[in-house]
Amino acid sequence: MYDVIVVGAGPAGASTAYHLAKQGHSVLILEKESLPRYKPCSGAVSPSVAEFFDFDFAPVIAREMRRVRYTYKLGDPIEAELTTTDPIWMVQREVFDHFLVQQAQGQGAQLKDATAVTAIANQGDYWQVSTTDGTLDAAYLVAADGATGPMAQWLGFPDLALRTASVLEVPAPVGDDCAINFEFGLVKQGCAWNFPKAESYSIGVATFLGKAPADYRKVLEKYSQSFGVSPGAGQVYSHPLKLWDGNHPLHSHRAVLVGEAGAIVDPLSAEGIRPGMVSGVRAAEAIHAALAGDADALANYTATMHATWGEDMPWAKRIAGLFFRVPGIGYRVGIKRPTATQRLGQILAGEVRYADIASRVMKRMSGGLLSG
Ligand SMILES: Cc1cc2nc3c(=O)[nH]c(=O)nc-3n(C[C@H](O)[C@H](O)[C@H](O)COP(=O)(O)OP(=O)(O)OC[C@H]3O[C@@H](n4cnc5c(N)ncnc54)[C@H](O)[C@@H]3O)c2cc1C
Repeated sequence: MYDVIVVGAGPAGASTAYHLAKQGHSVLILEKESLPRYKPCSGAVSPSVAEFFDFDFAPVIAREMRRVRYTYKLGDPIEAELTTTDPIWMVQREVFDHFLVQQAQGQGAQLKDATAVTAIANQGDYWQVSTTDGTLDAAYLVAADGATGPMAQWLGFPDLALRTASVLEVPAPVGDDCAINFEFGLVKQGCAWNFPKAESYSIGVATFLGKAPADYRKVLEKYSQSFGVSPGAGQVYSHPLKLWDGNHPLHSHRAVLVGEAGAIVDPLSAEGIRPGMVSGVRAAEAIHAALAGDADALANYTATMHATWGEDMPWAKRIAGLFFRVPGIGYRVGIKRPTATQRLGQILAGEVRYADIASRVMKRMSGGLLSG
């Protein structure tokens, strides 16, 4: 019998396992893929996540970035520098995620990869977990199985809408003058981006409102060509996104949802790595308290996530609802302002909340609408 079984070895699951194992609890991570595994993602991570861990992330940072470039319909370029204390990290997910799991293993967590969870059964004061390699028991369960995993549904949480995003991973020489690139206008109700890694680009596209276009490939082709990158040299991956859509419960009987399994993904930026890892840290604190006899600990986990991260997400969603409807106006009255990039950096660093800027942003957007 384990104290905790964590289902899913992404950043949210690995962070939960790390902190629980560090507290001396017996933890098993179950992962259906063989590690290291690739997760379709652009791999931008806020360095502010480091404050929750006592190890150095340097070995898995492929590139650090301050320069940001924007375009609207591939023209009207704007360049800005992030002035936050630390630059944004670019990571390769197969490397970053595996490193986090290894850190958890270093604290004593066990890993069974290439082992899918196929069913769970509530046994009252413990969970029985069926896998493709036998049955295991644990006092608590952590659902960290991402946007498409089955755990949330099995635990009785409502199905939440999924969107799809695509990313073209393409090896290419990356010059020193590279930047984090965002493109608005090329895709309706969404955006495209190009994040450089050590020797490759992650070129992505997502829509945040309405229906996704039938084929993202044309957008990816056109956008990658604008950087002189041949799309044929890379590979396109598509993956669902479970964006935040309301503050739903994140706990049930002896179980919690962390990361994208609980829709802990920013609805404006699609940032899921940092909030997923923070949810793992908070979930570990709650399970540690529950194992010590605190009957309210898991409910407190839901309350803490709602009061910290979740409280700000309605503002992110409101800004997304306006910005992605009229990106040309958003570009003119918002992105072009020198403070826009500074606020983006501060939000990713957790220094500023969307609530602090939302009314100004929305007033400017509405003013832009009125003036045409
Ligand atoms: C195209 C794209 C670009 C993105 N870019 C960024 C970005 O630049 N920055 C950012 O912060 N976020 C980004 N995101 C979001 C981010 O990738 C996710 O939010 C993040 O990976 C969620 O982490 P997680 O640990 O919750 O889940 P995941 O990383 O999805 O891990 C879940 C794990 O659970 C495993 N699993 C599933 N079912 C089972 C089962 N039955 N049994 C055992 N294991 C199972 C899966 O194999 C997987 O390894 C992007 C998303 C997409 C789609």
